[in-house]
Amino acid sequence: MHKYSDYIIVGGGASGCALAHKLLESKSSVTLIEAGYSHHNFLLNTPAGFFKLINNSKYATYYKTNPQKHLGERVNIVPQGNVLGGGTSINAQVYMRGRAEDYNEWHDILRVNNDSANWDWDTILPYFKEMENNSRLENKYHSKKGKLKVSDSSHVDQLTYDFIDSVASLGVIKTNDFNGEHQKGVGLYQFMNRKGKRSSAASAFIEPQKNNSLLKLLLQTKVKEIIIENEKAIGVVVENSSGMEEKIFADKEVILAAGSFITPKILMLSGIGSEQELQNFSIKCKNDLPGVGKNLMDHPECPLIAKANGKYGYYKQGEGLRMIRNGIEFLLFGTGRVNSTGVEAGAFVNPINSKDLSYIQAFFVPSIYMNSDTIGVIDDGYGMSITTVMTKPKSRGFVKLKSSDFRDNPEIELNLLKHQDDLKMMMAGQRFFLQALQQGPLSKKVKEIIVPNTKNLSDENLENHCRRFVRTNYHPSGTAKMGADNDKMSVLDSKLRVRGIDNLRVCDLSAMPNINSGNTSAPAMMLGLRCGDFLTQRTN
Ligand SMILES: Cc1cc2nc3c(=O)[nH]c(=O)nc-3n(C[C@H](O)[C@H](O)[C@H](O)COP(=O)(O)OP(=O)(O)OC[C@H]3O[C@@H](n4cnc5c(N)ncnc54)[C@H](O)[C@@H]3O)c2cc1C
Repeated sequence: MHKYSDYIIVGGGASGCALAHKLLESKSSVTLIEAGYSHHNFLLNTPAGFFKLINNSKYATYYKTNPQKHLGERVNIVPQGNVLGGGTSINAQVYMRGRAEDYNEWHDILRVNNDSANWDWDTILPYFKEMENNSRLENKYHSKKGKLKVSDSSHVDQLTYDFIDSVASLGVIKTNDFNGEHQKGVGLYQFMNRKGKRSSAASAFIEPQKNNSLLKLLLQTKVKEIIIENEKAIGVVVENSSGMEEKIFADKEVILAAGSFITPKILMLSGIGSEQELQNFSIKCKNDLPGVGKNLMDHPECPLIAKANGKYGYYKQGEGLRMIRNGIEFLLFGTGRVNSTGVEAGAFVNPINSKDLSYIQAFFVPSIYMNSDTIGVIDDGYGMSITTVMTKPKSRGFVKLKSSDFRDNPEIELNLLKHQDDLKMMMAGQRFFLQALQQGPLSKKVKEIIVPNTKNLSDENLENHCRRFVRTNYHPSGTAKMGADNDKMSVLDSKLRVRGIDNLRVCDLSAMPNINSGNTSAPAMMLGLRCGDFLTQRTN
């Protein structure tokens, strides 16, 4: 059956839901096509449910990278949302925008063209405020009027406060707002939730539209390719929820928001990408854009893990009787540990030059962080973890097709720690936050630092530790980047339009020329809102 609406959005994740909201507001009709499931699920919606879902869930697709050359040939598993709301329905809910310099940098990259759209901070800040409904902050940087609920954590463990005091004892200023004038500092994070309920792109932007006849929402429907006629996108081919192939058409435009792994895959399957690479799969090239799938960026993270000398933190709070007790408290009174995503505080520092911008973000977890790299290597028990994340990595990877069958995941090469400067900054970040476990109030609760090995902290050993434990912080981006006309590797112009093909845009994290400093949900939603304004011509 052929269906028409003004716009087709491919992918109902962070950016896709935000875009749909914006277009519906302007009275346009929208077909929102999401490969995954409905977001209505108790575990998805509660803050602590995140930990229950992260390793094995139908709500995520677990992408595997190539063996990582700079990480001892380890394969990284990168989960991505397979649900309405995308990453915002399964993530740790930390609310972060990045800093003004991130967007001023994009603006500088793009302004080479006279007619480029503005991306500087003064232009972008209103989009963050437009989406934000902050429970505490309302000022030059924050708003209480948007749809995305942003709140302080309703439960904070004492170890978290100890972490903040220990880092402050290293000379880092305490902050109660990482999204205000300055990003640097140590403090409690704010989260995309309210009163124990996640605020995802789905709940913020799509739930209020559920009775809007202008919205056609198709779940469990996978887009295979874009239909292009005479260098113009006119629709998409999908595999619908019954497994049947269908064509769906758009009167105006098709916008890709399937995330940084699948958006370039769909472009390539549709004949947009490096002609040479497409030939390998006998795909007819419709526009030779060698930048499709290149420029893959992700934030590398590395843990510091310590055993506690007492029964501190969240060990086994999600299991057995303790889980039942915590669940009952949450259901009866709305209080307690279920309100915590487990990652309550963090910091932004520059461990090499404290006067310069921060290049390390830290997350504090009041338990031993168990994942595929630590399970079987580190004993679980009472303890704590600090992960250091390099916020402006210089390493670049790529996404390539593995076959011309849309069911096959693409080849993913993250290349984490490929660039020596990333390793250097990560090692400096590790040394900096090690001090937080060794001095101040937190150190009084540390029985033993398990990793890195503090008995021999030579550069060589610390480098080995980084190569052994560094992994993705789940923020792939940049694989269909915006760029200036003279940049042959740019896929999009400054208004998110795919070069050389009419009526086709990309509005997810793939569009980023350079990754933002910090978590990526809010920037993805900002891209969706901004794309909506480009489409409805409300901005330049
Ligand atoms: C485990 C985890 C923890 C995270 N923690 C945080 C955090 O605390 N704070 C934060 O800000 N960010 C966090 N992030 C990152 C953030 O969620 C993502 O960066 C963000 O969701 C990316 O937005 P997007 O629109 O680019 O893609 P996504 O949100 O991934 O949306 C892409 C959508 O496209 C759909 N799709 C894919 N293929 C197709 C197809 N063929 N047809 C139709 N639909 C398709 C997917 O199912 C998905 O819903 C986390 C991510 C993960 C995975």
